[in-house]
Amino acid sequence: MTDHDCVFCRIIAGDIPSDRVYEDEDVIAFKDLNPAAPVHVLVVPRKHVPNVVALSAEPALLAAVASAAGTVAQQEANGDFRFLFNTGETAGQTVFHVHGHVLAGTDMSEGEL
Ligand code: 5GP
Ligand code: ZN
Repeated sequence: MTDHDCVFCRIIAGDIPSDRVYEDEDVIAFKDLNPAAPVHVLVVPRKHVPNVVALSAEPALLAAVASAAGTVAQQEANGDFRFLFNTGETAGQTVFHVHGHVLAGTDMSEGEL
């Protein structure tokens, strides 16, 4: 896959607009187009890596993604959040550039999943 074919590479490059809430040299975070919670932000490494298992081969980058998620949750909500990586088509992954969903801003303690 080239950068041109990947929607998140195009967002990172600025070719597709997004509502960015956080960025550093390794990671960007932007609001999901179709939010599933009051706060729904995607945390994405700038490097094209297909999924979270592949990302685990780069522990420093995985740590940068997790740290950014915490920053986003502090910034956009009360610091509590769910952090979700759909991995594979049948798990619901539709964009094959790894992204963690930060879901927050509501009480999810009684949720079924
Ligand atoms: P997945 O289903 O792969 O775990 O998550 C992909 C997410 O990316 C979906 O929640 C979808 O709404 C979001 N998404 C897809 N295309 C775009 C886009 O162009 N901009 C933004 N902000 N979100 C997108
Ligand atoms: Zn990409």
